[in-house]
Amino acid sequence: MAAYPVRAIVLRKTKLGETDIILTLIAADGRQIRAVAKGMRKPGSRFGGRLEPFAEVDLLVHEGRSLDVVTEAESVESCASLREDYDRSTAASVVADVADKLSADSDAEERLFGLTRATLRAMAACDVEALQRLVCGFLVKAMALHGVRPELDSCAACAAHAEGGNSFSVGSGGVLCPTCGERDPAALPFTEAGRSLLVSLLGMTMEEIANTSVPENDAREAFGLLRGFVAYHVPARLKALDFYAGMGM
Ligand SMILES: [Zn+2]
Repeated sequence: MAAYPVRAIVLRKTKLGETDIILTLIAADGRQIRAVAKGMRKPGSRFGGRLEPFAEVDLLVHEGRSLDVVTEAESVESCASLREDYDRSTAASVVADVADKLSADSDAEERLFGLTRATLRAMAACDVEALQRLVCGFLVKAMALHGVRPELDSCAACAAHAEGGNSFSVGSGGVLCPTCGERDPAALPFTEAGRSLLVSLLGMTMEEIANTSVPENDAREAFGLLRGFVAYHVPARLKALDFYAGMGM
């Protein structure tokens, strides 16, 4: 069997049989890998706690007939606080869920790995009140990498200058001018503060986002809009995002 080394982040664990786990991972080149960690649920497993969700690891993986098998694992960054704290864990789960669905696409986007890593590391270390804007920053950047960057300057429906536009269409993919906004009953309310927040999130690194302060109302508006935007453009059900939204975001 051929073996390959890979740097990856654990996105999800799925039970297999009595003692094994199937890991869903995003590799450093943006591809998704699914591989079995044998005996991981046995006490004293040789993998220890290294293969938990949100951890970044260096793996040696053997190609199997149906599923590949992890034979060695070294911790790069465990991000333990993401599993120990409820608020961090629910926010990080949104990141893992979206990275899982987007990396499953056969067109691997290498930058999705870097974005996922930077977001999880920022979430592991930030003040708890920064989690909300990190989720927003991750969602808008992940969608941009996925090829659906929200249009925030000119009208997403008619390309006219969107000055004075106060609505957003998830289907058209951005802000609407006042005329198109009036014609679209499904458009969401969109304030100038929400617009400038999305523009600045797109322009900042995750670390910068962690250290900027944003009024809670603006972050809530941006989240509601991004949630609709992601749900429209990513066909899979995103349970972690639904759960996070249900927490009163
Ligand atoms: Zn228009």
